[in-house]
Amino acid sequence: MDCYALIGHPVEHSKSPFIHAAFARQTRQELSYRALIAPLDGFSDTVRMFRAEGGRGANVTVPFKIEACSLATRLTERARLAGAVNTLTFENDAILGDNTDGIGLVRDLITNLACPLAGRHVLLLGAGGAARGVLFPLFQTKPSSLTIVNRTVKRAQELRAAFAPYAGQTAFTAGGYEDIGGWEFDVVINATSASLENKTLPLSGNIFAPDAFAYDMMYSENGTPFLTWARTAGASRLSDGLGMLVEQAAESFALWRGVRPSSTSVLSELRRKLASHS
Ligand code: NDP
Repeated sequence: MDCYALIGHPVEHSKSPFIHAAFARQTRQELSYRALIAPLDGFSDTVRMFRAEGGRGANVTVPFKIEACSLATRLTERARLAGAVNTLTFENDAILGDNTDGIGLVRDLITNLACPLAGRHVLLLGAGGAARGVLFPLFQTKPSSLTIVNRTVKRAQELRAAFAPYAGQTAFTAGGYEDIGGWEFDVVINATSASLENKTLPLSGNIFAPDAFAYDMMYSENGTPFLTWARTAGASRLSDGLGMLVEQAAESFALWRGVRPSSTSVLSELRRKLASHS
């Protein structure tokens, strides 16, 4: 049986084994997928051991996505631009590194949530690994404008400098939270980890255009501080990042197995599972 794994630290609460097992049943693929914890200083050794046991591919999560980028012998363009890898495919002596987070976000917004991005004004909050990973796929959807704001303004400006050549016709700006006073956005995506710390962001209450969508990459059975704030601040539609998680997994699965699973039933099943634990 072909073996796959999620490698990270920690990995105990990961939903990925559940998601990939469901995809395998649905597409009748014979495979196993497990969560594999790597010591903080032992990512490459863990990958080596897993390959020696016959591992065919792995997803990579916090804090190893950047190390996985260095370990890969070949990178897709989206992984190279992200500077981070969440999907490794082992091919004889080569290791292909890909990043499926961005396409996962875009598919969740456009396909699952019917939130078009073309021609819209998009605000991306945060300039860490997640923001970096989604920028290139976001530009490919051709928004009218894309604004990045970050607590550490310099990091937002660095992202702007790195990704400006890929913006196409999209007006691309970067700055701090205080710079967007009076601006309105159609889609606001929280790619900060503030919700993980139960913190809210220094945003004014009038950033949402009519019918605006607020999206938090974090997910939790109990909602997130960002989405709670967005509801009171006037966002018309809201979503957490559970769909992004399922969609990035579907893209990895398709890459490994050459067959694309349907994410709809798996996402509903996962939502039911989460709700029963809340
Ligand atoms: P990083 O640590 O790389 O970046 C964290 C970002 O959050 C930085 O921009 C940081 O700003 C900002 N930040 C943290 N705390 C605060 C705060 N209190 N106020 C304002 N800004 C803050 O994390 P990642 O980019 O890897 O992850 C970000 C989020 O995305 C996490 O919640 C993660 O769970 C989620 N995620 C979800 C995925 C999914 O499939 N649903 C996939 C990948 C990520 P500064 O630069 O100033 O420190």
